[in-house]
Amino acid sequence: MQKFSALSLARQAIGGHLGWKPQWRSVAPKPAYDIVIVGGGGHGLGTAYYLARQHGLRNIAVIERGWLAGGNTARNTTIIRSNYLFDESSSYYEHSLKLWENLSQELNYNVMFSQRGCLMVAHTVHDVQSFKRHVHANRLNGIDNEWLTAEEAKEFCPPLNISPNIRYPVLGASLQRRAGTARHDAVAWGFARAASDLGVDIIENCEVTGIMRAPTGEVTGINTTRGDIRTGKIGVSVAGHSSVVLGMAGIRLPLQSNPLQALVSEPVKPAFPTIVMSNTIHAYISQSDKGEMVIGAGTDSYVSYTQRGGLHIPAHTLEAICELFPMFRRLRMLRSWGGITDNTPDRSPITAKTSIPGLYVNCGWGTGGFKATPGAANLFAWTIARNEPHPINAPFTIERFRDGVMIDEAAAAAVAH
Ligand SMILES: Cc1cc2nc3c(=O)[nH]c(=O)nc-3n(C[C@H](O)[C@H](O)[C@H](O)COP(=O)(O)OP(=O)(O)OC[C@H]3O[C@@H](n4cnc5c(N)ncnc54)[C@H](O)[C@@H]3O)c2cc1C
Repeated sequence: MQKFSALSLARQAIGGHLGWKPQWRSVAPKPAYDIVIVGGGGHGLGTAYYLARQHGLRNIAVIERGWLAGGNTARNTTIIRSNYLFDESSSYYEHSLKLWENLSQELNYNVMFSQRGCLMVAHTVHDVQSFKRHVHANRLNGIDNEWLTAEEAKEFCPPLNISPNIRYPVLGASLQRRAGTARHDAVAWGFARAASDLGVDIIENCEVTGIMRAPTGEVTGINTTRGDIRTGKIGVSVAGHSSVVLGMAGIRLPLQSNPLQALVSEPVKPAFPTIVMSNTIHAYISQSDKGEMVIGAGTDSYVSYTQRGGLHIPAHTLEAICELFPMFRRLRMLRSWGGITDNTPDRSPITAKTSIPGLYVNCGWGTGGFKATPGAANLFAWTIARNEPHPINAPFTIERFRDGVMIDEAAAAAVAH
């Protein structure tokens, strides 16, 4: 693998940048692998990387029906934080946040992780109570989170409008300073490059169309648009299409798939120092390194597999943004898009074995799984390699919906980013 360093960059610059090689091997599928990961997003590629790096497994393929990170990995607004309420979730997201903090060094690939903090703005008495509860719960778990008055919030984020005369005045905010953003494609590319270097086959333009099973029930392989592949272990990480792929094995997941939208403005000079989320008026915003304001809109209420949504959803979000940040009223929007999210009833994910031997699933990340990319990949790899969950993901089973042991994070955010 070509290493990135100041020296290698200088050497390539002198050579006119003609010496860079492809960052991962493009291969045709082999007839059999020990493990097949379905889905070439950040979660799937990361899982393959940790299987190879931490568990010493090598005969692995990642099967992607389109191109790497063409799904939600490159469609999201990249908010990374770990200030969730319940012990189970905060330890899962904190595990991930700690991996983010060293990911660029580990992969030798700049994922542009920027810990600029995340302000969650409270507009009602209920918001204040709920966010303070999060602050206390997080601190008991050793996770940074603090409560700011409206004035302190404005000091941290000067464009914030704290006038008492707006529809939903700012009553205060919680702040996780270690929260941040990252470059979404880079996360997938970094994992792909490192996994490929460890011998993982990355196969694009190959759709999984069926799951093969022995008469005794266990998985024996997959059918794909590029032929059948035999394997004894299948890890499914396909975000919005989890119900479709698990349905191929006859498993019905407790998921609903909805479009979620985002949009960006024209690029402007650095004007926005942090991430701001407002659950009540439903808006969240940060500024990308290119200068665009990255704005997350809401989930369409209908079920759909189209990667777009209704215009009224981003329109509502923009009204809210303009109220919170009047200086953005004259910004022009550049483009908008949607992605399909797979939402569980308790808004917490599933990272688990299934009832079928050899079939594992990592799904239900809904609107908030980008932040979990390294953590989920790391724990999913553990679950597949050892055929048992790590203590951190042990509560995140499919069976919790049968047994009633929910991890109810619906209040984590209006759309759980
Ligand atoms: C608009 C939007 C904003 C968001 N904002 C945030 C945010 O700010 N913070 C946050 O933490 N999360 C956010 N999310 C959620 C986050 O994007 C996802 O939870 C996360 O990226 C999922 O990653 P993944 O690797 O599982 O999925 P994906 O990147 O979608 O990868 C799954 C892959 O599986 C492939 N696939 C599907 N079916 C098949 C098949 N049959 N055969 C082979 N391959 C298949 C797809 O092509 C896709 O590439 C947002 C999502 C959206 C849509």
